Amino acid sequence: MSYFNAHTHTHSAHAIINAPLGFTQFDENCLYSIGIHPWDYMKYCENTEMLQHWLYSCVQLPQVVAIGECGIDHTIAVDVELQEDLLTQHVKLAQQNSKALIIHSVRAYNDVLRVFKRTDCRQPIVFHKFMGTMHVYESFKDFDCYYSFGNELLTRSQSVGVLQNLPLNAILFENDDSEIAIDDIYTFAAQQLHISVEELATTVQQTAKKVFDTKFV
Ligand SMILES: [Zn+2]
Repeated sequence: MSYFNAHTHTHSAHAIINAPLGFTQFDENCLYSIGIHPWDYMKYCENTEMLQHWLYSCVQLPQVVAIGECGIDHTIAVDVELQEDLLTQHVKLAQQNSKALIIHSVRAYNDVLRVFKRTDCRQPIVFHKFMGTMHVYESFKDFDCYYSFGNELLTRSQSVGVLQNLPLNAILFENDDSEIAIDDIYTFAAQQLHISVEELATTVQQTAKKVFDTKFV
């Protein structure tokens, strides 16, 4: 049984690996996302031409199945308008290349929603490390959204409550940059959902195939 990992920084199979900035050593047997994290905004300003070239050339690779992580973060010292512009570029890149988006949103769901409305985003959208409420879920209902839970699920009761209320086919899991094994997140989530871990893993795998439009997950 394989446990699909929707966002990780570790080289692994059955996962979407978040490629580091400027990464070019794409393994034929792995899947990747490429993008400029809002935390890397200054690096992006210093190397705009190189990073634009990197994004626009690597997006063509079949292993690159998603754009991100990208998004908006209200806890960093970068003007929100500038972050919105960069996110808009990522949405357009996803639209032009028919790829999914992996979104980083910290206290910024309204800003992210505005970008999706303005760009009329029809691509699948994965909220990575989702810590929003059911109200956030409702506000994104017009879009093709998926909600990925990470290690915080194990310690955060609000996240468990949201997990239990979301449609099963809108849920993904990830271990991001944490030490925790993806299997442990699935085991815990299956217990909270009162289903077998096999059923959960099979459902998530079907979701991932649809979201990332690939049979290789
Ligand atoms: Zn990450």
